[in-house]
Amino acid sequence: MNWKKNLEAKNNSRLNNLNLSLVVYLSTRLFIYYSMRFEVTILGSSSATPVFNRNPTAQLLNCNEKYYLIDCGEGTQQQLIKYNLKAARIDYIFISHLHGDHYFGLIGLLSSLHLNGRIKPIQIFGPEALLEILEVQFKYSDTVLRYPIEFFAIDPTQPAQIFENSELTVETIVLNHRIPTTGFIFKQKQRQRKLIKEKADLIPMAYYTALKKGMDIETPGGEMLLSEDYTTPAEPPRCYAYCSDTLYDERYFESIKDCDTLYHEATFLHELLDRAKETHHTTALQAAEVAKINNAKKLLIGHFSSRYKTLQMLLEEAQSVFENTELALEGKTFPL
Ligand SMILES: [Zn+2]
Ligand SMILES: [Zn+2]
Repeated sequence: MNWKKNLEAKNNSRLNNLNLSLVVYLSTRLFIYYSMRFEVTILGSSSATPVFNRNPTAQLLNCNEKYYLIDCGEGTQQQLIKYNLKAARIDYIFISHLHGDHYFGLIGLLSSLHLNGRIKPIQIFGPEALLEILEVQFKYSDTVLRYPIEFFAIDPTQPAQIFENSELTVETIVLNHRIPTTGFIFKQKQRQRKLIKEKADLIPMAYYTALKKGMDIETPGGEMLLSEDYTTPAEPPRCYAYCSDTLYDERYFESIKDCDTLYHEATFLHELLDRAKETHHTTALQAAEVAKINNAKKLLIGHFSSRYKTLQMLLEEAQSVFENTELALEGKTFPL
């Protein structure tokens, strides 16, 4: 009966191989899917106060499953829960300025991370005084965080690169608001070339990394493997510009030129231009002009005044100048 056992063993090993290939295939697909993510989820779109179910400003940028929080208005924690985004995964926070509608949610979020047992550091980039504000709040609540805050003060007077990792860089945009304010540009780095699967299957995996980097390889047998035969060019890196509160001002145009997706505040309709100027804000028409002049491919508008119960008029006004405009509605995720 040995032959029967052998056959069973053979079948089992075939099945195991099949399962293994399936696992490898699925995890590769999953890795490719997640490793290509570059998207932003809107958590708050209201200016000044929460109103009509709209929360003050906050956005979550997801780059290959790394979370970057941009501004943190009141209610941000609840919004993260509502949209099933894990706060614990946020490692970087960028605060544009110290008007409360852009950071009043921060102390609560940082406290909850502490209470939930976070130990890994968090990096915060923001106006210099923000650290002092946080320290005062922790001091008087006698809170000693379990995790370190690595704080980086932003110089609001000139644009600069303030962050870099293997996937992206972040630069500041000097905006023109009632208090020092910076926007942020998230720029993907050039990615590696992509393997042509049918061809790559015919050669050892050990060669993949070099070929994806564009390097040609000579095999021990003397055969030349050319990168361009085994790979296709990577998609061009993309870019997201975030312009929070600002007056329309050509001085920041250079920083945001040719960025793929532009988020720009559009607090008022253009009929309230005087009010926009007075409060150092932008109208929907002006936001669209900024997108058009600076060659954006897509415009998201937000930071809507509490006077607008519905937002259709703001959208239509912007679209009359720049057609590819969308409302930065809460819960919506935009691929960048
Ligand atoms: Zn604001
Ligand atoms: Zn403001």
